[in-house]
Amino acid sequence: RSIAIVLGTRPELVKLTELIRLLGPAAHVVHTGQHYDEELSGRFLTDLGIPEPTYLTGIGGRPRAVQISAALAQLDALFLASPPLAVVVQGDTNAALAGALAANARSVPLVHVEAGLRSHDRNMPEEHNRVLIDRLADVLCAATPDNRANLLAEGISPELIEVTGNTVVEAVHGQLPDAVERAAHLGRLGLAEDGFVLATVHRPENTDDPVALRAILTELVALADEVPVVLPLHPRTRARVEAAGLASLLGPLRVTRPLGYGEFLALARHAALLVSDSGGVQEEVTVLGRPLVVVRNSTERPEAMADFATLVGPGPELGRAAREGLALGAAGRARLGALRSPFGDGLASRRIVELLGVVASRPGVYAAA
Ligand code: UDP
Repeated sequence: RSIAIVLGTRPELVKLTELIRLLGPAAHVVHTGQHYDEELSGRFLTDLGIPEPTYLTGIGGRPRAVQISAALAQLDALFLASPPLAVVVQGDTNAALAGALAANARSVPLVHVEAGLRSHDRNMPEEHNRVLIDRLADVLCAATPDNRANLLAEGISPELIEVTGNTVVEAVHGQLPDAVERAAHLGRLGLAEDGFVLATVHRPENTDDPVALRAILTELVALADEVPVVLPLHPRTRARVEAAGLASLLGPLRVTRPLGYGEFLALARHAALLVSDSGGVQEEVTVLGRPLVVVRNSTERPEAMADFATLVGPGPELGRAAREGLALGAAGRARLGALRSPFGDGLASRRIVELLGVVASRPGVYAAA
């Protein structure tokens, strides 16, 4: 019997790579296909060295309820045919919620990696996914003490919670290319170290509201007058930019396809500043020691805000915060580089493997708790 790792999106692939590697043949990776785009999933998965997963069907691009229910039905059939020792899910995606419900339905112990994040923003479907998964989980791997405190405040039993750190730290350490390769990545795009801004935009609150999308692109274009702005374009964002008739705004930006993880980290490591609405990027900048402007209404990662990041809405405050970030200069970035990441020490995946050993050797213990 194996340990089922249920995932479906790019950030889950990033953050579970090291755990899957450590588990070796004990891991059975099940990919729901929530992200079905080659650049967010297929090629991305091979680059990370994740073994060929079992794929579910009919999920990518469907409404949330269909994604969850279709994945749940297929996972239930899989778990019935070969019951896993434990199910591992990461984060707050529909794939993770489906994995959690499927584990619960078959009384398989559920391990939640990155438990206890809370934005307290009920407009985000991810917030609902997180809360539901944490209620179902038998082992909650909190990344930080604050994440643990969020869980305790919701009445979750302290014996179920372990502060492991966030697996993103070892993902960055393991996947950041060496200096020669990083220089080659920058060279291919004609970029100089510390001489550009790296931006990503993909959250529905920014892409699905044409006013917000226009405002963000307008600020990035203004910034591009002063410094090259690289924008690896997420497929959702590309579609929304075109649908909203905003494609002409992309002209002054260095638009690329979504980058492989190593290439993205290489650019992030040498960016003078990042601008992003991504969750994972908020954590990665704390390992890479780079300043970040977060374009969101709320964040579930307040730990990044203390030193590394500033939260802004889409609009002129984005431009102002970006200029302040750039003004930090080399000395400011060196100061950030010397700080420890609030997200852990790079040993989270190892701790989770140890916890899995306990769960798998005593099935039912956690499920009965
Ligand atoms: N990322 C990447 N290539 C890109 C843009 C982002 O590899 O072109 C990585 C990024 O470093 C982070 C992950 O993708 O680890 C974040 O995924 P996304 O922003 O889709 O999800 P979120 O973290 O917001 O859930």
